[in-house]
Amino acid sequence: MSVDPMVDAPAIRVRGAVRHFDGVPAVDGVDLDVRRGQVLALLGPSGCGKTTMLRLLAGFERPIAGAISVDGVQVAGPRTWVPAEARRMGMVFQDYALFSHLDVAGNVAFGLPRPGRLRSRSRAERVREVIDLVGLAGLEDRKPHELSGGQQQRVALARALAPGPPVLLLDEPFSNLDASLRAQVRTELVRILAVTGVTAVLVTHDQEEALSVADDVAVMRRGRILQQATPEVLYHRPHDRSIAAFVGDAEFLPGQSRGERVLTELGELPLHHTAHGPVEVLLRPEALRLVPDPDGRAVVVAREFYGHDQMLALRMDNGRALRARVGPITPLHPGQRCTVEVDGPVSAYPAQH
Ligand code: ATP
Repeated sequence: MSVDPMVDAPAIRVRGAVRHFDGVPAVDGVDLDVRRGQVLALLGPSGCGKTTMLRLLAGFERPIAGAISVDGVQVAGPRTWVPAEARRMGMVFQDYALFSHLDVAGNVAFGLPRPGRLRSRSRAERVREVIDLVGLAGLEDRKPHELSGGQQQRVALARALAPGPPVLLLDEPFSNLDASLRAQVRTELVRILAVTGVTAVLVTHDQEEALSVADDVAVMRRGRILQQATPEVLYHRPHDRSIAAFVGDAEFLPGQSRGERVLTELGELPLHHTAHGPVEVLLRPEALRLVPDPDGRAVVVAREFYGHDQMLALRMDNGRALRARVGPITPLHPGQRCTVEVDGPVSAYPAQH
């Protein structure tokens, strides 16, 4: 039986990619698989190599080792080099990189092949189609400076999507937008990506952004991928303590694990995985359940109110500090005592000495 690489291969496959700058590795042996139609977020702190990895995928950087394939066809490897313009990938840059002298329609049309290769009527139709898709109909004649930040980003997205690329690369797509606009633009981007079915890789240092937008998140640190998983798995079952602390709020509690359960000062808890011996148990603040109790072993010492929820800082009688995320309405206030229960299962890591 013959196997069609175009059907069976992942949209993007990276194996052992390495890129150095002045002898210092920026990308240091990355393996990555992105399924067709999937949205993958590359998440990591500043300088971890996210942008370099995106530029390797785009063909703006050449790996010194390893291989990159798109739809089963190698585009970079020991003896292969397909330049950026031949890779047919769409790119949305952090600063949008719009042409200030062109209007919206002109900017979007710029993403299409030159006239002659596509009839001018088809060009105009395609421009209208993607402008509709990103919700900019009616603004075709505006110049970039006459648009809001969110609208400028839509133009950049429309320009990148205009030629119908199989892969879209987005570099920190939300970083130039203020907080109130971000959530709205995120939802809109997810909708547009789903409608087009394009495979997308986006770079971000914002964990909430990565978790809410992506089907899969790859956590990068010092040029390497530490874990690639769905947002749920990454959040609840991070591979190690450092990923747990990077992806969301994390509290750690000492425990003694015995197979599928762990004994802690907050009781015996079920584990996501088997473990043996001394461990540190990951507690997400929202997994703590607080019951007001004048004889409880914890006291509320501070409260941060966020509107949709609030974070209570607790001090246990043994001196341990913990944080608990509770709903916007709670009978507990600073100074009050409570008992603390944990909604399991939990993840645990070998105790650090
Ligand atoms: P940020 O979130 O701050 O953009 P990043 O995770 O995207 O960071 P990269 O921009 O990929 O990280 O950089 C990774 C490392 O490679 C950094 O130490 C950076 O200084 C270095 N680097 C990146 N590009 C170059 C270059 N063109 N020349 C020299 N060093 C570079």
